[in-house]
Parts: sequence; C-alpha cells; structure tokens
Amino acid sequence: MKANNLSVSQIGEAYKKNELKPSELVKAYQDSYLQQKNLNCYIEFYDEAYETALNLEKAGPSGHHLWAVPAAVKDNFSVQGKDLTCASKILEGYVSPSDAVVVSRLKEQNFINLGRLNMDEMAMGATGRYSVYGPTLNFLDNKRFAGGSSSGSAVAVAAGMAAFALASDTGGSARLPASYNGLTGFKPSYGVIPRSGMADLAPSLDVVGLIAHTPLDIKLVLEAVAGRSNFDETSINLNAAKQLSFKGLKVARFNNLLKPVHPEVKKAFSLAEEYLKSEGVIFVDIDLGLEDEIINIYYILCCGEAATTLSRFDGARYGLKLKAASAGELFAATRSKGFGDEVKRRILLGNYFLHEQNYADWYNKANVMRSHLCNKINELKQSGVELFLLPGFSEAPLIGTADEATTYSSDSTAVMSNLTGTPAVAVPMMLGQNGLPVSVQLGGLRGSDQLVLDAGQKLYHIKNY
Ligand code: GLN
Repeated sequence: MKANNLSVSQIGEAYKKNELKPSELVKAYQDSYLQQKNLNCYIEFYDEAYETALNLEKAGPSGHHLWAVPAAVKDNFSVQGKDLTCASKILEGYVSPSDAVVVSRLKEQNFINLGRLNMDEMAMGATGRYSVYGPTLNFLDNKRFAGGSSSGSAVAVAAGMAAFALASDTGGSARLPASYNGLTGFKPSYGVIPRSGMADLAPSLDVVGLIAHTPLDIKLVLEAVAGRSNFDETSINLNAAKQLSFKGLKVARFNNLLKPVHPEVKKAFSLAEEYLKSEGVIFVDIDLGLEDEIINIYYILCCGEAATTLSRFDGARYGLKLKAASAGELFAATRSKGFGDEVKRRILLGNYFLHEQNYADWYNKANVMRSHLCNKINELKQSGVELFLLPGFSEAPLIGTADEATTYSSDSTAVMSNLTGTPAVAVPMMLGQNGLPVSVQLGGLRGSDQLVLDAGQKLYHIKNY
C-alpha cells in the first residue's frame, strides 16, 4: 500500500518500525495534492508542513498516538495565524487569533497540520457545491458530488492527501461526505469534543466531526481530543470505555426511519442486521412517533439558530468590510455581497421561524418535538438498550441531479443523532448499482462513543467489497 493511503494506526506502526519518516509521508501527501488539484479539496495546502515534519524527525517521537500524523482541518476551525473563511466571501481577510480547542489538543499531540479544507459555505449543505472556492469533486467518481458540508475533509482523506480530517457535523456533515467517498465519518456525543474555536452554525446541534479510513482510527483521534474544556461550558468528559460484547447486547431499530430510504440503503442495513444477529445481538424495535417530522424539526431549528449566529457577520467586526454611509448600509451591503444564496435562504427562513408572529407555530413547536425525541431516546436507557442500528447513506448523486429539496431530504437519516445529542458513526457496507459505497450507521446513548466505534470497527470488517 502507498504511504499516503495508510490509516492512522498503520502510520504509527510504520514510524515505530522505522519503515517511514514523517517527511516522506508529508511529501507523499503533497505530491498527491499537486497531482489532483482538480478535486478542489484544499483551500490552502501549507508548504511549511514539510518543515514541521523535518523538525519532528529531529526531535524524535514524543510517545503520543498522533505524533507526526499528517491531517487537515475543515476551514471552519480557527488555526492561529491562518486565514479562516468558512468558504464564504464574508470572511475574506480574516485571520484566526488563536487555535480552536480541538486544534490545540492535536498540536499537543504533535500532529502535522497539512492545510485548510474546502466545504459548503458556513457548513450549510450536503453536496459540497456551495463553496465560494467552487465545488469539491467526489474522489471515487468525479462526476458526482463529494457530499457536504465537509466535502474537502472527506475527499482529502479518500484521495491520499491526509491521514484523517477534522469536520463539523450539525446534521450529518461529517458522516455523509465520508460515506460518499467510501470512508468512516463520526459525530461524537454532544459536547464530547469542545467546540470552542469552531465557527457556529446551529450551536445546539453542532459537534466537531471526524473523518478517517476506519472507526479504529477515529477512536484514536477521539481519545486524543475529547474531554471537558473551560473554553466550552457545554463540553463533557468521555465515559469510561466499556468492553464490547455483542452476545445479548440490546440494539434499537427504528423501523419508521428505514421506510423512506433508498432500497440500497435498506440492503446495507439488512447486511449489518444479519451480521449483528449472528453475533448474538438482541434487536429492540422502537417507534419514536415523529420519524416523518424529523427532517422538518431539524431544518426549522437549524435555520433559526443559523440566522441568529450569522448576525455577527455584519461588516463591522470580522472579514469583509465595504464602504458605506451608515451602519445600516454597511450591514446590508456586506451581507448582500458576502453571503451566497444558500446562506441567504437559510437566514430568511430562520428569521421567519423566529419572528414573533410565527414563533409559536414553528420554532417553538419544533423545539417541543425535539424534546419529545430526546425523552424517547433517554427512555431507552431504562430498557437496557446500548446501541442503535440506523440507516446510512446512498451512493453519491450525480452533479446536476439533486435540487435543494432532494438534498435536504438526504439528511433524513443523519439528523436524529444531532437532535438528540447522541453519537453515530457511518461505515461503508456495500457497493450500489453504480459501484459506489452505501453505508450503515451505528448510534448509541449519549456518552457511548467508544462502544459505538468498537462496534463500527466490527461492521467495517464485514463490508462486502
Ligand atoms: N446537510 C445538513 C445541512 O445542510 C448538514 C449540515 C452540517 O452538518 N453542517 O444543514
């Protein structure tokens, strides 16, 4: 296997055995980047990464799992002294004053930061087409969407330009693009990785997401970056890891979530189901009662929160600053020029849902429904359920085929985990009719992140291609 396609754990082994040097590995990623610029997954590749690798080589291994592991960062995380754009014109010229907590924890591990990754503007989207830098292309089939919003994060790892990548996941943005490119995508329990320094989309749904080749790789990264930080009052520590044993383990199945999905997603689900059954899992069928509404609840809350968080981009504080005669004109001119169409659409929708005449019928109702979902999920604890088997994602759609409504509905299998703050991993399971990956998801109760990833690793091994 070529060095730039190694998993995080394989890189560690190769370093230990002196079979590979950090500088050789960075060079391999850099070459791969230069050869495949058409994929458009990096907004900026840091040339100094090679120098960092040489310095680490001189200093010798630090003993950390992620020592000299080259990775890249979605461009909605602050990296001190570097541009931060969220793939939007509105942040033009903005330089981060400090590191996001997750970035500083990776730096403590002596990882090598390869650069800033492309994404849908402000992390809104499921295709990768809404970036001001142009769309990212799917690595497996350039005529298809990369998936979003963490399009660059998925493609950089798939195309051998990074060992793993930071993503964000508000409603599937780590899991969906990972799946479209044949990788593993993970959203941790809400708060397990501190969000401070990650640009907000919808703060009650946002989590730091991770994309890598395998669930095991993700577990290595998670354990390095998880845990409470004083910079984020919503952050929590990881629970003590439990030993995974499928025999007698109760796994929830939400049959109504499965009904509307693509037949190939159902097939991937059945493959995982059969395997888990053969290992002794006991399935518990759950009816949440709101399955048909889940996507609406998500979009009402996401747009409402986004309209509020994005109000900070006004031309006076961050990035783009246009000349104007008054404050009102400055706000209007900057926001009109700075935001793309999808962002404007969501701001309009969000303000509509939050407007005092509409609040009770829309935003508040969605919040009440969200509480109902959270209560239902919490009740599962009493019935001894530990994991959830969830439908994953279909093959990536062809560019030009998915309108906004179709794209919004592709999030329907992802958002339950964000609304309830629970962990979920998307694992490739089989190839669909066009020879592209179709995935399944494993979820679990809040805090069961390692168990979810251990079970995900087992599923990863039974994928049938
Ligand atoms: N596709 C979802 C949306 O557009 C996901 C966003 C995300 O997870 N950042 O809202």
